[in-house]
Amino acid sequence: MQVTYWAEHAWLGTHVEPGVVIEATDGRITAVRTEVPSPPPGAVTLRGLTLPGLANSHSHAFHRALRGRTQVGSGTFWTWRDVMYSVADRLTPDSYHALARATYAEMALAGITCVGEFHYVHHAPGGTPYADPNAMGEALIAAAAEAGIRITLLDTAYLSSGFGEAPNRHQLRFSDGTADAWAERAAALKPAGHARIGAAVHSVRAVPADQLSTVAGWAEERQAPLHVHLSEQTAENDACRAAHGRTPTQLLADHGVLGPRTSAVHATHLSDEDISLLGGSNTTICMCPTTERDLADGIGPAVRLQQAGSPLSLGSDSHAVIDLLEEARAMELDERLRTRTRGHWTASALLRAATADGHASLGWSDAGRIEPGALADLTTVALDSVRTAGPSPRHGAETAVFAATSADIAHTVVGGRHVVRDGVHQLVPDVPRALADSIAALRG
Ligand SMILES: [Zn+2]
Repeated sequence: MQVTYWAEHAWLGTHVEPGVVIEATDGRITAVRTEVPSPPPGAVTLRGLTLPGLANSHSHAFHRALRGRTQVGSGTFWTWRDVMYSVADRLTPDSYHALARATYAEMALAGITCVGEFHYVHHAPGGTPYADPNAMGEALIAAAAEAGIRITLLDTAYLSSGFGEAPNRHQLRFSDGTADAWAERAAALKPAGHARIGAAVHSVRAVPADQLSTVAGWAEERQAPLHVHLSEQTAENDACRAAHGRTPTQLLADHGVLGPRTSAVHATHLSDEDISLLGGSNTTICMCPTTERDLADGIGPAVRLQQAGSPLSLGSDSHAVIDLLEEARAMELDERLRTRTRGHWTASALLRAATADGHASLGWSDAGRIEPGALADLTTVALDSVRTAGPSPRHGAETAVFAATSADIAHTVVGGRHVVRDGVHQLVPDVPRALADSIAALRG
């Protein structure tokens, strides 16, 4: 199948070009032509600024059901987690499928073309496997297909509640018992055209140190992405030091978890040596600024990590909001507040985290660029909305990153297919209703 798009403006990795033709065949870009002032016959017009599709590198789809309700009262990450577990307790393959389909449709409307789903709700409550032990993961893969986006299912090993502690009653359904049993179940997951399979270590709290290398080896064997929550909370650092005399980063390094296929999520509370280990191993850092501020985590040292050698990616994680443009600007703006200086990243550098580097962290290094050979995944930001009208299109990247929101996404194209057209999802007819119904069903 061949399709031709004409982008009124397109960001080509470093700068904005007016009038760009993007031709795609069978889901991949075959030609990119600049200096085309008007749409050629038969081309589909993308009015606004077209970017490569956005990669949401860290998601827990079921957290979408927490929006609003976790904003009542005070507390910490740990009290938030209690509410989160009350939702996790209620999920079934069917109810999770419905919620994830709606959540991924919201992502498509926000210009996200690929999601990294950090998935650990594997079994029935109490820990009994479903008849199909991968029923939950397969529900997520099907949900992404129905919402029209790509997914990397990061099947997550979650075996313990803390250092030397068995899973609590909420966590029993996350656990396969041992990393070997996790590996056997995860090996049965099948990739698809829109879906790739990766691995995750939930955290150093949730996978005993002597089993970390089993998960790392599984990913190594398949050359698959490997993700891990890292040092989001100082309590995790303290417990890890007490149990092992090492920081979580040192422990991961000791057991072969770090490296260029690995992404460390959050990486908020790090020592100088941790930063050297992460950067020196080219481990990607996935920052989730809207979640990190929502959960009162702190601000991770993203500038220093990148200088040390770590690529950066972005994720909406707990889905307090789903807006990759907001994640991108929040990384820069948090750094401004901390340092009282501006301009740590250019708009183009922030967009690279949201596109090419994010896709690479999810095992889609063939996506995230508008160039021949890349997957034909595109996102168009309107430049004529109440938020974006006015600036010169030459400053379209700056306008998109620093002023636009997900409400300004006009078009989303995945593999050449026009999934969101003029702000309307073409596959899920009423996304707000799908969200409301699937979340209401979980309230019982
Ligand atoms: Zn997370």
